[in-house]
Amino acid sequence: MKKCASFDDVLVVPGFSDITSRSEIDLSSRLGSLEMTLPVISSPMDTVTESQMASTISFLGGLGIIHRYNSPAEQALLVADAFGSAKRDQTPNIGFAVGVGEDMIERAQRCVRAGASLICIDVAHGHHALVRHALKTLRNTFGDTVHIMAGNVATKEGYEDLASWGADSVRVGIGGGSICSTRIQTGHGVPTLQSVIDCASSELSGTVPIIADGGIKNSGDIVKAIAAGADFAMLGSLLSGTDQSPGEKIQRGDNLYKEYRGMASERAQVNWRGRVASREGVAALVPYKGSVEDIIESLVSGIRSGLSYSGCRTISEFHSKASMIFQTSSGFSESNTHVLSRGIKI
Ligand code: IMP
Repeated sequence: MKKCASFDDVLVVPGFSDITSRSEIDLSSRLGSLEMTLPVISSPMDTVTESQMASTISFLGGLGIIHRYNSPAEQALLVADAFGSAKRDQTPNIGFAVGVGEDMIERAQRCVRAGASLICIDVAHGHHALVRHALKTLRNTFGDTVHIMAGNVATKEGYEDLASWGADSVRVGIGGGSICSTRIQTGHGVPTLQSVIDCASSELSGTVPIIADGGIKNSGDIVKAIAAGADFAMLGSLLSGTDQSPGEKIQRGDNLYKEYRGMASERAQVNWRGRVASREGVAALVPYKGSVEDIIESLVSGIRSGLSYSGCRTISEFHSKASMIFQTSSGFSESNTHVLSRGIKI
């Protein structure tokens, strides 16, 4: 049986660097014709991305994908609002999700009309005949005027099939999400980092962007995902609990929280479809974190620092130069701040 690597199993090996300032590092990446200055995409989940998150992430250089757990008309309003809350001069790139059900085309038409430039076919098991059909239908409807992202897949075969069916970019990762119980419920999945490594070994990588999705806990994991060949990192939990994520702040004792839930959790399913099929996610209260701008700023500084440890000024240079090693469990312990096991955090 093949051995697989998770984020915590690996490290990127530092290499010679002549970078004297992190500002020399350019984190721009492209999704087809969409130019982004930050390789970060917010998850299409109802506790992560609605108008505010989408417009803020876009202005910070990334992309937000507005979730589909509402009616087509409501979703199109959220897309329109993302433009309405535009704080600066430039027009934001806004994405939105669709499923493969009956309302797919109506959703897509309304949201594209509202100004969105990217459709994300958002399916738990994306290597599926229904996704092939959805890609064909959407492509016939929109031609090449809209970027179509599809997923999720866990294997190189899945990545290549989705690309050959017409996906412009592919979400990679099954079962790794922080709120996900797919692997427990179904026994299926592949560690997200390994899926990225496998997909990036395809000749299509570099042409069809890879979005690493699920289980990214910190900027170090984003750096590892890019080192493995990802072009973008999709983030759920890291962006949850912020001012820009949907939902009210909830007080418990002296602390503030916000809800973050898997879209296949019981709570979410009851909310959006009024019944529960397979439970493949959980719902949680996560600490309230303040503005997503501060979260992104801290992630960006970690990613820039990461590239500078490999002496790389761009993501494509990092793709070609990055070298990863496995670490043992004692290496993993050493990698974490370990003074705290003997002292008190101040
Ligand atoms: P996180 O960044 O580790 O929190 O993972 C977020 C990702 O988990 C999303 O982008 C989805 O791909 C995935 N996801 C969202 N809801 C569920 C669920 O209920 N079950 C399994 N995976 C989910």
